Amino acid sequence: MDNQNLQRTLAIIKPDAFAQKLSGKIIDRIEQEGFSIIGIKVLHVSPEEAAQFYAVHTGKPFFDELVAFLSSGKIMVLALKGIEAIALWRKVMGATDPAKADEGTIRKLYGSSIGRNACHGSDAPETAETESNFFFKPEELVP
Ligand code: UDP
Ligand code: MG
Repeated sequence: MDNQNLQRTLAIIKPDAFAQKLSGKIIDRIEQEGFSIIGIKVLHVSPEEAAQFYAVHTGKPFFDELVAFLSSGKIMVLALKGIEAIALWRKVMGATDPAKADEGTIRKLYGSSIGRNACHGSDAPETAETESNFFFKPEELVP
């Protein structure tokens, strides 16, 4: 098959999950689902960086809380590669609100509220590229 859609996506283990030492379990899941990890790092972003990362949500009622949360502690960012990686990672994460997420998804398992929902995933090829470039220089990725 040469028509399989090989994509990259950007995943974040958010401060709630990182602080609870869930990174290992989440990475295990990432590998079990068949993704290749092509970049990984631990960061503590500033509020300014968090606001820039989530710029698309500027002005929304939850924006300030979102920025405060993402910058509240360490995060792990991962560049993932795989067939239909963008949609697959969003499926594995589950719905934004853990209460509405399917059984077995990461947000259902590890999220505690819509704001503290354990992980992030890009939603389209364009955002995957922008978000990956936000955290990784090209030479930091090992495809
Ligand atoms: N969020 C929130 N309240 C809302 C909607 C979103 O706190 O009503 C947070 C939530 O943590 C989510 C993030 O803002 O993960 C980005 O929102 P988006 O709609 O992009 O959801 P996602 O793509 O993360 O599923
Ligand atoms: Mg989103």
